[in-house]
Amino acid sequence: MMRQYELVERVRKYNPKVDEDLLNRAYVYAMKAHGQQTRASGDPYFSHPLEVAAILTDLKLDDATIVAAVLHDTVEDTSSTLDEIERLFGPQIRKLVDGLTKIEKLDLVSKKAAQGENFRKLLLAVADDVRVLLVKLADRLHNMRTLHFVPVEKRARIAQETLDIYAPLAGRMGMQRLREELEGLAFRHLMPEAYLAIESRLHELRARNGRIIKRIEKELTEEFSARGIHAAVTGRQKTPFSIWRKMERKSIAFEQLSDIFGFRIIVDEVEDCYRALGVVHTKWPSVPGRFKDYVSTPKQNDYRSIHTTVIGPGHQRVELQIRTATMHEIARFGIAAHALYKDSASIEGKEELAKESRAFKWLQDTLDLLAHGDSPDEFLEHTRLELFQDQVFCFTPKGGLIALPRGATPIDFAYAVHTLVGNSAVGCKINGRIAPVLSQLQNGDEVEIIRAEGHVPPAAWESLVVTGKARAAIRRATREAVRMQYAGLGRQIVARAFERAGRPYSDDKLKIALPRLARPSLDDAFAAVGRGEIYSGDVVKAVHPDFTEERKQPAPLKRLEPGEPGWFGMKSNVNVVFKAPGATGEASAIPIRGLRGDVPVRFAPEGGAVPGDRIVGILTPGEGITIYPIQSPALTAFDDQPDRWLDVRWDIDPENRELFPARILVTAINEPGTLGALATLIGETGANIDNVSFSVHSPDFREMRFDLEVADLKHLNDIIARLRASAVVSKVERVNG
Ligand code: MN
Repeated sequence: MMRQYELVERVRKYNPKVDEDLLNRAYVYAMKAHGQQTRASGDPYFSHPLEVAAILTDLKLDDATIVAAVLHDTVEDTSSTLDEIERLFGPQIRKLVDGLTKIEKLDLVSKKAAQGENFRKLLLAVADDVRVLLVKLADRLHNMRTLHFVPVEKRARIAQETLDIYAPLAGRMGMQRLREELEGLAFRHLMPEAYLAIESRLHELRARNGRIIKRIEKELTEEFSARGIHAAVTGRQKTPFSIWRKMERKSIAFEQLSDIFGFRIIVDEVEDCYRALGVVHTKWPSVPGRFKDYVSTPKQNDYRSIHTTVIGPGHQRVELQIRTATMHEIARFGIAAHALYKDSASIEGKEELAKESRAFKWLQDTLDLLAHGDSPDEFLEHTRLELFQDQVFCFTPKGGLIALPRGATPIDFAYAVHTLVGNSAVGCKINGRIAPVLSQLQNGDEVEIIRAEGHVPPAAWESLVVTGKARAAIRRATREAVRMQYAGLGRQIVARAFERAGRPYSDDKLKIALPRLARPSLDDAFAAVGRGEIYSGDVVKAVHPDFTEERKQPAPLKRLEPGEPGWFGMKSNVNVVFKAPGATGEASAIPIRGLRGDVPVRFAPEGGAVPGDRIVGILTPGEGITIYPIQSPALTAFDDQPDRWLDVRWDIDPENRELFPARILVTAINEPGTLGALATLIGETGANIDNVSFSVHSPDFREMRFDLEVADLKHLNDIIARLRASAVVSKVERVNG
């Protein structure tokens, strides 16, 4: 176990002004607090916080962080209290230990509901001070290094959590070295056979290719020094986990040198990066499409480097990373490098440094999302996606750089600039040309957003954008727009109710009556009527208490069949743009990638999957594959049979479009002409109405079920958006069987 003076010495090496007394007091306090406790390995428990502190000294962190690491388990696992910590070590260390205590027992791979909430707690705890996250990551690293002592049944869960949450989080904070070690340890525990197989192949390759590597190193070094560039060249091998992940994504030939080995060129100055690149590209042909300049546009986690691949010595493809020593430091330590001890800098000063980093900004943006009350599950989904996605870099017309996840649209761009810009975005220009607002942005695109004040973003955009910020803002804006729509609808219904009753109406009188309806404002009361929460007759009664009305029983729900009175066959009124045979029910010609062509494939007849929906296939032996949209409630029947689930993708021929059945439920004002208006709206989009049935569901409203045929999800969402915008409609829902 590390001795007291050893810990102090480790810190002194990079920080001559170390507060020796503080470290010593923390050491003794934690040792006493943990007393006779032992770890699963049989070691004294106290060895764990010490190892965590040691990991953080490798990152050259400040005294407060090291002390917090030594104390991090005292409040959770011993009789120590936060007040005591504050009394002995001051308020700043109390705050760090408090943050660590809050997240100590979070379970991030537990039941799905708790997972999102826990992830949210984790980010909230590290929000104030990124040093909490650094200690937490070091804590996890030590626990992973000693995972083999933990009972087998617990290991998989901890390893999975590490791979799912902590490793990507370390990567997102730019701490590649920590991330690689976490991934490597988790991979070994989760897939020991795969790990061993790759490791033994790597061993062979090293033996076989060692000479080539040395030769390439030597040739590169000589070439640089001949051109007067001081550069350190090192060959490096990819980690087993990164090789495995690559093999999983696309099959790579294991023997290909370029896929296994890379070379790192460390130079002194930024200009040297480009000079070195020039040398490499003059000497050897470069492989097209492999050049990336993260020096001029850093990644969102602050990573900077030039990447290129050339056909190098011995006609080998060689991957090269060119960076300065400072960039290398940041690539390895990420946000911790920003917190590096500076002689003159106070602790607050260093925190300021860390706050300038992009990684910290990402953390802040993510926390902004939390503040806007997304549900934890959605939050987890967004954040996780963003943790893993690659970035594209785009520019504002004034040259400002906006980094977005790959796949982002101009709408995401607009929201990244400002929520108000996103909310009023109606069009865009990409590189000076008008372009669709939902096109995919490419690296280097210059994006100009065309705005119209008072515009409300269509609800359908929510599922088409990729950033959490855009999604949350669109949901908020549409929620507000929907509320105003309900209010407008409610106002019409109330006006008619007063007319029916033969009573005078005025806003002022209704305002006085609001307490009787238990609503704070007119708009709230109208919206409640529009939503059907308050019956319009009760509003009349609130204003005129003497008013009585015989209330009719609503007719029971009834499904109408074609030909029955009340049934509307709409086909003839609708402008049918395209109609392809065989789109419904029976075995359909949708090619599904990755499967043999002779497996019969059909759509679940009531499933209502349309292109654009995420779909899954359920395999029934002897029958074939049935396709369901992922949101289909019918899928719950297969929850306990994971081996029957197949990952399938749409592969639609754009030249030969088919229509697909979809069902929506519309609640609209109960008055003549409503149905015709809705049918016209739908017809204008080019959809086919197959069937309509309706039922009266209250004196004010009528519910209608439309069976439609649509081209794809975008088409369907467009129909839903148009219906929702209609003055007579109160609610539209998609129905999946
Ligand atoms: Mn711990």
